[in-house]
Amino acid sequence: MSNALLQTELGNLPLIARGKVRDIYSLGSAPDADLLFVASDRISAFDHVLGSGIPDKGKILTQLSLFWFDFLGDLTRNHLITAEAAQFPAELQPFLSQVAGRSMVVRRAQMFPVECVVRGYLSGSGWKDYQQTGMICGVPLPAGLHESDRLPEPIFTPAAKNNVGHDENISFDQMILTIGREHAVALRTLTLSIYKKASDYAATKGLILADTKFEFGLIDGQITLADEVLTPDSSRYWPAASYSPGGPQPSFDKQYVRDYLESIRWNKQAPAPSLPDEVITRTREKYLEAFRLITGSEELDEGLGV
Ligand code: ATP
Ligand code: MG
Repeated sequence: MSNALLQTELGNLPLIARGKVRDIYSLGSAPDADLLFVASDRISAFDHVLGSGIPDKGKILTQLSLFWFDFLGDLTRNHLITAEAAQFPAELQPFLSQVAGRSMVVRRAQMFPVECVVRGYLSGSGWKDYQQTGMICGVPLPAGLHESDRLPEPIFTPAAKNNVGHDENISFDQMILTIGREHAVALRTLTLSIYKKASDYAATKGLILADTKFEFGLIDGQITLADEVLTPDSSRYWPAASYSPGGPQPSFDKQYVRDYLESIRWNKQAPAPSLPDEVITRTREKYLEAFRLITGSEELDEGLGV
């Protein structure tokens, strides 16, 4: 098995941010310079980056995003410039072994400080909110729903992006106060139509897309889909065959990891543990299975052309 890439080192290229999974670089020093998003093989659980990576996870996430950007092309513009290593700028060429197959060069957008979450099923923070208030983000729901139930129709439940700590569910009215009515309405409509198209497609592959989150920004004044899209990191996918509402559903990709972490009774504080080889191997297989199911490709693209 290949080794996991835990962190990139790209010489003098300015690192803008290191998220839980991605390393983001600026391609040039202009304030509107393009960005390089590299998805590492880091994996997080319970809000911590674990001590072990999952080999090829970053390639899988990047290639899933690329599939979906293309699939959604008739609904929305996106920030992608290229994911082909041969077209990467010259300063990246010495680093192809780190970046090829797992990276996207993108236009820098003025991001809306809102996560556009859409839910077709009752789970996660939505289920918590519903139990307390009967609503999610101010959207009233019928009484008597159970955890993981399918909602009467998909709902838009935005979250404010917090620089520290957790994103916070907000009402649509609060979103309007933050970014203005016109943009808020446009993002809600777009989010719901993307979810419809993507979840219909996922269903044909035996997957329930329970919920997902998109991030949009403005490029040349136009609303543009940015960030990663419809990856297991930004979305809840459930196998339709074993769907059984009335409790939490096993995570498609991270269940072995979560089960292992529960079994060792880790206190969910840093430092996060490493994973045994068997958990790594089985988790990698799950990511590959998601990739194959969704894209219909058997093999990962190494990003180096043929
Ligand atoms: P987490 O690891 O919990 O997701 P994070 O969101 O800070 O934390 P990343 O997701 O790796 O880490 O960070 C990506 C950042 O880049 C996000 O703030 C996202 O809004 C931003 N972003 C995505 N696409 C673009 C773009 N085209 N232009 C500018 N910023 C972008
Ligand atoms: Mg993020």
